Amino acid sequence: MSINRDTSAHLFEIAKKYFPGGVNSPVRAFRSVEGTPLFIKKGRGSHIWDEDDNEFIDFLWVMGPLILGHANPNVIQAITETIQSGTSFGAPTRLENELASLIVDNHPVLEKIRFVSSGTEAVMSALRLARGATGRNKIIKFEGCYHGHVDSLLVKAGSGLVTFGISTSAGIPESFAAETIVLPLNEPFALEAVLQQYENQIAAIIIEPIPANNGLLVQNKSFLQYLRTKCDEYGCVLIFDEVISGFRAGFGGAAEKYEVRPDIITFGKIVGGGLPVGAYGGSAEIMSYISPDGPVYQAGTLSGNPVAMSAGIATLTQLLQPGFYESLEDKTIQFCSEISAHIQSKQYPVHLVQIDSIFWIAFSTDRIFQAEQIDPDSMKYFKQLHRHLLDNGVYFGPSGYEVGFVSAAHTSGDLEKAAQIISEGLDFIFNV
Ligand SMILES: *Cc1c(COP(=O)(O)O)cnc(C)c1O
Repeated sequence: MSINRDTSAHLFEIAKKYFPGGVNSPVRAFRSVEGTPLFIKKGRGSHIWDEDDNEFIDFLWVMGPLILGHANPNVIQAITETIQSGTSFGAPTRLENELASLIVDNHPVLEKIRFVSSGTEAVMSALRLARGATGRNKIIKFEGCYHGHVDSLLVKAGSGLVTFGISTSAGIPESFAAETIVLPLNEPFALEAVLQQYENQIAAIIIEPIPANNGLLVQNKSFLQYLRTKCDEYGCVLIFDEVISGFRAGFGGAAEKYEVRPDIITFGKIVGGGLPVGAYGGSAEIMSYISPDGPVYQAGTLSGNPVAMSAGIATLTQLLQPGFYESLEDKTIQFCSEISAHIQSKQYPVHLVQIDSIFWIAFSTDRIFQAEQIDPDSMKYFKQLHRHLLDNGVYFGPSGYEVGFVSAAHTSGDLEKAAQIISEGLDFIFNV
């Protein structure tokens, strides 16, 4: 069975005339899966429709932001009301205070935050803050964590004994990459060795506490706690990049879940309720380094945009309802256990990784902590699965390294149906 994708294919031809690869963000080009991208024209609740009127149950959710589903009525109402009074002023508004108080007053770590317009911008600013506050230059990051397209973080580990990063993108000076040290996740000894070697040079350790951009590399709580201890010992700033896990792993994100107090936390995705918002924050003390209070410059024409703020307010207000996260996690566990039961009964070399409302299908039977444990060759299975899912009305991100999300908008009917289609997809892959 193959669905009609003619309109999408036509629109993609036009898009290729205007945009590199036909897209405004690379993964959307479907280079890792079969076929051409679907052009989406509408979303409502848990479903999206493409330009050929094919309907899908969404599990991508813009890669995380739409925890409440598409066109959430409260979010739409908030945006619509705000926009009647204008779209931006370049001056403070009441809405910035409201969103900030929702976040800061309900978070165990944050005392002050600053709004920006994307996750990348939040991370870039957090690094500058860490460097400004410590007077040091080097950064430690972990292989398998993504932090947006920040120059000094688009690096991977060097080979052999070289710990300095090698840039993964053209256009990044070697001297930038050389300020970044890349380590494997879950290896305390490697970290300790680097901290000793570069004593007084490391400004910050940055990690996705729930690494969810290269598969789902759930870490042990003890490793995250170890980072805190070592940062204290060596005077480095601990940055939790919670652009995905923030407001996802509970309202207080991974910091609250793992009971670790990072010095700076970055946000994006959910915080803007589907509109472009990012944020970074920490203690009042560290945030006092930020301009105009302190010497670290950071600014934004559309920062704190009122329309985006109102989408964030309407979203976070709903997340603070009692029982919200418990019920979302229950649904996710139920959904994953149905698929897992099928996998076990058939003994497929696959397992589901799940934490909170995030899941990932690992084409391996081993628990995976590190990026290098993922076999690139296994992505051929994901490619087949993706095709099967699209043909049967289930929308996953177009790469086997991307996680899926369960949303409050998913009904139990949606999840049962999707679990069945995913199970059939696995049968289709492994019984040929
Ligand atoms: C998505 C993401 C980013 C980048 O956010 P953008 O809004 O795409 O710039 C940074 N860090 C993490 C952990 C992310 O998941």
